[in-house]
Amino acid sequence: MLERLAFETWNELAKYLTQDERVALTYVSSKVRLAISPILYRNLFLNEEPCVFSDSNPLLANSWSVLCITEHKNEYADQKLSCLIRTLQESPFLSSNVEVVHCTWHLDIALLRDLLAVLVHNAPNLRHFRNFLTPAIIDDLKKVAPQLQSLDLPPPGVLPQGQVAGSYLPRLASLVRCSSFENITALNIYMDPGEFFSNYAPWAPKLRLRELSLSLRGDNYEPDSFPKARYTYSDVFDVRYLESLTILSWFEEENIDVYEKYHLHELLKFQNLKELTLLSFYANDGFLRECIQSFPLLRRLRLDYMLGHMIDQGTLTLLSQSPAHLSLQYLDLKCSPLEPYLVTVVRGRTARFEINESCVCPACRDVVQNILRKKIFSTQSSYLVKGLEDIPNRDVITRIISLSPIIPYTPFVDIRPGQSYINDPAKAVASTLNKAFGQDVFAVEDIIKIYHAHLHSLRRTFGYFLQRFPNLAFLNINDVPTSVQEGLGGQKYNLPIYHSQGYRTNQVYELVDDDNLFA
Ligand SMILES: [Zn+2]
Repeated sequence: MLERLAFETWNELAKYLTQDERVALTYVSSKVRLAISPILYRNLFLNEEPCVFSDSNPLLANSWSVLCITEHKNEYADQKLSCLIRTLQESPFLSSNVEVVHCTWHLDIALLRDLLAVLVHNAPNLRHFRNFLTPAIIDDLKKVAPQLQSLDLPPPGVLPQGQVAGSYLPRLASLVRCSSFENITALNIYMDPGEFFSNYAPWAPKLRLRELSLSLRGDNYEPDSFPKARYTYSDVFDVRYLESLTILSWFEEENIDVYEKYHLHELLKFQNLKELTLLSFYANDGFLRECIQSFPLLRRLRLDYMLGHMIDQGTLTLLSQSPAHLSLQYLDLKCSPLEPYLVTVVRGRTARFEINESCVCPACRDVVQNILRKKIFSTQSSYLVKGLEDIPNRDVITRIISLSPIIPYTPFVDIRPGQSYINDPAKAVASTLNKAFGQDVFAVEDIIKIYHAHLHSLRRTFGYFLQRFPNLAFLNINDVPTSVQEGLGGQKYNLPIYHSQGYRTNQVYELVDDDNLFA
């Protein structure tokens, strides 16, 4: 039966399968293997750490095939990548199916070069070779550049450089020259594109980009590197086409106005933007407000400012009254919660911890009585903050959300798989707390129960967003990623993307109607 399915059917079917299930199918028969393998090799996510998929919806981000890494060791990742390269080398059929390669940060350069050497000969369908690249592979990228729809200009170094080598910019220009501009829909660049294009690719036509990733870094170029006046963003990119904009600032000093230095206000012209991500900036509420007013079609908004800056109430109101409140499907930001967290630190002459029971469901009561009051705050004096080292241990919410996050890192949970940097982070938090308190009292289950109680404490905050943004599918408030689900009578609630097992929402009320009133 499976053997007789048409190719299009397999394509459709694969959307409902995890990677493990697709791999399992390759063992069914040679015909099934022939049908599913092209899908397995189409989009390759080259991770150097184990990937973690959502447990509430394992199909999220399942368009990728990731390297099956189980240990946090570089050698292990290298070994898996070597196996992939060998497979692609030995099978022109499999490599002919590769369309997209996504590279993560610390991949071995020699292996990347080997991979490109195979792809340049055996991957006629390769369209994107993306993300974190290095100048060491520019010559290899040039060979594959003519067929690509993405142009990733590697940064001069992993970190901003004190002095950029004089050869760097001309080498980038030579890479750009190999690209087919009419094909390019995505650009990743680590400097002001206006300065780069006016000086190093002035002959380039206006790019019809759908996706722009801009990293703003304080690399020191030689003084005469950019003699010609810069182009504006709309000189370089056609304003009608850009849909996704990601800007990451590497500047750690607040005294540099990155918004001004990189002319970011020019980007407000790109009014067809559907996805906006601002990362590691010092907040500028004025700029954000202008973005909200300029981008009425936003579907995805991700804001992660320096120092955990929270979006103020006025800006949230503006967003909820903007046309984008109807189009937004994915919202990821930080704001002041409407109820205090389960554990907070009250500052004052004598700082102390406070337990706030905003939800009184049996699960939250169990957490307060049997974990917080018994294991963390067992005496009156344990509520007093005795020193800075006391805070990360007893302020358990900050511990599991920001200090030792128990959820993996991912920019958008539905697009990219999460990456975890340690094994079983919830277990690691339990063991850290056991060490800090000098007794073996915390179990992994305690940590998960605290996480669930934390979600319950966000009930009103979640409700605020669900009411104002009716088409949200994903909501990540203060680093708690959730999907939006519909419960009884169409009531909406938030389901954690990770650690969802055993989670029962406190956002849905039991409905009593004529039929079940006396049942
Ligand atoms: Zn509760």
